[in-house]
Amino acid sequence: MARMLIGGEWVGSRNGNTIEVINPSTGEVVDTAPRATVEDAREAIDVAERAFAVWSEWPQAKRAEVLKRAVALFHLHEKDLATLLTKEQGKPIREAILEIRRFAHTIDYYAGLGKNIRGGYIPQIDENTYGLILRRPLGVCGAIVPWNFPVSLMGNKIGPALLAGNTMVIKPAETTPLTDLRVVGLFAEAGLPNGALNVVTGQGSVVGEEIATNPKVRKIGFTGSTEVGRRVMASAAATLKHVTLELGGSDPMIVCDDADIDNAVKAAATGRFFNCGQACLAIKRLYLFDSIADDFTNQLVARVKKLRVGNGLAEGTIIGPLHSRSQRDEVESQVEDAVSRGAKVLAGGARPQGVEYDRGHFYLPTLVADVPEDSKLVSEEVFGPALPILRVKNLDEAIEKANASIYGLGSSIWTNDLNRATRAAERIEAGYTWINSGQVIYDELPFGGLKQSGMGKEHGPEALDYYTETKSVVVKTK
Ligand code: NAD
Repeated sequence: MARMLIGGEWVGSRNGNTIEVINPSTGEVVDTAPRATVEDAREAIDVAERAFAVWSEWPQAKRAEVLKRAVALFHLHEKDLATLLTKEQGKPIREAILEIRRFAHTIDYYAGLGKNIRGGYIPQIDENTYGLILRRPLGVCGAIVPWNFPVSLMGNKIGPALLAGNTMVIKPAETTPLTDLRVVGLFAEAGLPNGALNVVTGQGSVVGEEIATNPKVRKIGFTGSTEVGRRVMASAAATLKHVTLELGGSDPMIVCDDADIDNAVKAAATGRFFNCGQACLAIKRLYLFDSIADDFTNQLVARVKKLRVGNGLAEGTIIGPLHSRSQRDEVESQVEDAVSRGAKVLAGGARPQGVEYDRGHFYLPTLVADVPEDSKLVSEEVFGPALPILRVKNLDEAIEKANASIYGLGSSIWTNDLNRATRAAERIEAGYTWINSGQVIYDELPFGGLKQSGMGKEHGPEALDYYTETKSVVVKTK
């Protein structure tokens, strides 16, 4: 049985309850993890508060050294961590390795910013008076993490929070606690003081709610659905916590008539079906200019039909299972809704057949054309391997439709016309626009959604602003 890390001790929940972690490919139990109580979560928060007095006093460079040592351990254990991640999450091992590397890169990036947290000095603010702007850590920060990228999304919070001198209580998703626990154990091995990083496993309604309401928690870094994000923000409001919310998305991809079609087809296939479509930044609506739509669609269909579905640990698997039965049910119902309203399935649209698929939550990569704009496949977030293909006459129509969503997370445009590219980058309402590029996230660039995709930024030096606060000091010299 896996155990939680609270104050440097590996512990079970105080009532002994556990959660079974299920392999989405096989239905087998991978391991169990504690089903924490409210008291367990409170204890972790108390411990983190005590550890703050120690960790926040460490020099920045010394904190960065711990992060760097941890990064070396992540690389050393990369294969084991990735295998565990595939077993509990379902993603192909190739993608699990990428996720562990991305996580290591993020921590390394913040370790590299180890001397960059600065304040300010304002001379002669008044006669014989100067001002100082101190930049200080916030205190105990809660991190609430989803199941789709359990490790890298946790890293987006740990990196800036720890470097800035905060301590943390992390709550992984109920269904993916195992790799997070291993990874956090490696921070401890790297010399992080006890209590600086704690993990409490269990339900959102118990552990997550406690983190969101406990007055000792000063900030919440939340990644998950828009619905739960609203709730977390409301809970956090009672004690005026800082919140960063990374929520749902419905990213449009626009392909103009002058685009490099070959590369755009590849980007559409990868962008939609990576992690079996369960990515916040997945391409969820494809807008093709009329004149290239047939050619593009034929190439995409041919490519998608070749994507091999299977157990994430099996050789050659490109697409794993959906993470859970309910996740597959949701995608199936979104496709069925579109089909019942006249849409045409061009690829997939069903579960794969064969004994190797019987016990997992598999679904074929699916392309759907002639989709009504108000069908669920277009208007809702589709968190799985199904892509609606839509046609537009020109860029203005594409941008208008791209913006007709409550979400504003990512977006992409394919064109060789600089004016079109610039116009799209300026007018699409999203936190990211990729021009002639797949949806790749960079630690160097701030990332965060607009509209109901969230608030606040992760990545970049900007993320440090969300884990620190300023204080002004006035000094009279005579
Ligand atoms: P979810 O909102 O159901 O759960 C996310 C986390 O919140 C889990 O740890 C869960 O236990 C916890 N939680 C649930 N109820 C809670 C409560 N009442 N109080 C506090 N915490 C609670 O999301 P999910 O299904 O795990 O993840 C999928 C969603 O996450 C999708 O909408 C996806 O787009 C979004 N997402 C966004 C980003 C981003 O960076 N914007 C990245 C990945 C995923």
